[in-house]
Amino acid sequence: PTKDIAGILKSLGVEATNPGAAIGGKWLPTTGSRITSYSPVDGSAIAEVTLADEAAYEKVVHAAEEAFKTWRMQPAPARGEVVRQIGLELRKHKDALGKLVSYEMGKSLQEGLGEVQEMIDICDFAVGLSRQLYGLTMHSERPAHRMYEQWHPVGLVGIISAFNFPVAVWSWNAAIAWVCGDVCVWKPSEKTPLSAIACQKIVQSVFEANQVHPGVCGLVIGDAKIGQKMADDGRFPLISATGSTRMGKAVGEAVGRRLGKTILELGGNNAMIITENADLNIAIPGAVFGAVGTAGQRCTSTRRLIIHDSMYEEVKERLVKAYGQLSIGDPLDQNNHVGPLIDKDAVNQYKQALDKILAEGGKPVIAGEVLTGDQYASGCYVKPAIYEVQRDYEIVCHETFAPILYVMKYSTIEEAIAMQNAVPQGLSSAIMTTNMRESELFLSHAGSDCGIANVNIGTSGAEIGGAFGGEKETGGGRESGSDAWKAYMRRQTNTINYSTELPLAQGIKFEL
Ligand code: NAD
Repeated sequence: PTKDIAGILKSLGVEATNPGAAIGGKWLPTTGSRITSYSPVDGSAIAEVTLADEAAYEKVVHAAEEAFKTWRMQPAPARGEVVRQIGLELRKHKDALGKLVSYEMGKSLQEGLGEVQEMIDICDFAVGLSRQLYGLTMHSERPAHRMYEQWHPVGLVGIISAFNFPVAVWSWNAAIAWVCGDVCVWKPSEKTPLSAIACQKIVQSVFEANQVHPGVCGLVIGDAKIGQKMADDGRFPLISATGSTRMGKAVGEAVGRRLGKTILELGGNNAMIITENADLNIAIPGAVFGAVGTAGQRCTSTRRLIIHDSMYEEVKERLVKAYGQLSIGDPLDQNNHVGPLIDKDAVNQYKQALDKILAEGGKPVIAGEVLTGDQYASGCYVKPAIYEVQRDYEIVCHETFAPILYVMKYSTIEEAIAMQNAVPQGLSSAIMTTNMRESELFLSHAGSDCGIANVNIGTSGAEIGGAFGGEKETGGGRESGSDAWKAYMRRQTNTINYSTELPLAQGIKFEL
């Protein structure tokens, strides 16, 4: 597939040089700085993008405002029909888009294809949802009155996304926002701009065929500055931002200052508890996939293993054995388990984290290193590492976006849960046990404090049907399934009087 990249780009309509802003299928001239997207797989330059400038940004936002006026008046099931067709279009391009995602981001081909499958699945989910945007009715305390609530679209949704899920996170937001009657402006990660351009090209044909105002789907490619601009811009009642906690704090503060709404999906520091009752034939593969899959660059990657004293040595041995079988290299080659990090900055952060672990007293079980040699010429490949640590090390409480796994011991289940919760982040968590009391305690209100808590499944990955997100420094936002759609709408309570009197609530009398 790497050799075929020219053909893949062509089939997706990605050019050698691309403007970084679009209103539906209309690409705007941009004069921002020109960036090259390099593949971490082999270090090759894939194509260039000229970043969106102020004028292009204004045009995209203005078009979104115009589009909202007509899109919100389409019946929700009619909007769902458009999203259904987007799902069909994505099916046609799944192979090419999956390969581009793998090549531009560095995740395995299976994961690249899986990401596009998630986009398809969320479209299907959104189609059904378009007939289920339910409000409640209540009994009024006043005679001959009717009271109910309804959900209206909020308007412009700004979507800021991270490099590690270059396409799926946008679709989780956009598909739901569209059926809710909102319009979207997407600022993808500047590290994966070509995947975003390909998505914009794939969906535009559907909007055109259905004569939908192109402003429903806007794209502005830029760095943090344009993200900050969106956060400050009062024309966006809702900003959905996925990325680091550092970014989320900046966006949350800016949107909060103008009392706008946010959905924040930020960093994780996910732990798996392996109890004395664990089935290690599930626990070990779950831990290894969670720690090294996507080279540890998932927000749900397993970063900490909290292991019962009695199992500790055996788990360590089995981990060492499993890590010994990992093959690291080109992620498009299906024989490899681990691909590269996104860029050399990420490699530096990995190296700094290793230094810090040692400085704090951590001991290598498998020492990390940056890999060299022809196969690793991009300079982005690192060895998945395991370190024995103490729970309170500063580095252990911090999310390092790389395949570094910390192992630590516990003796009581209460202690294990306390250790699992003793980090600032609260995204995903797992317990490996066949003991019902342990698993129920872990899931109870005295248990995991995370947005996701699994039993006998690793921390990594999630299905679109559930609400996805986490607590504490993970930001508190929820996306995707369940009733996450409510964040994309505003609730209105309506009371209608069909009597000839004007009774007041709480029995208040007001005589004239
Ligand atoms: P990042 O924070 O560097 O960038 C994310 C996005 O935010 C990019 O589009 C970037 O341009 C933009 N941005 C950065 N600073 C900004 C600012 N001050 N104002 C507005 N926009 C700004 O993150 P990354 O390196 O691309 O992604 C990795 C991080 O994302 C990890 O922390 C990971 O855990 C997190 N993540 C979380 C989830 C989740 O659902 N919780 C999902 C994927 C990734």
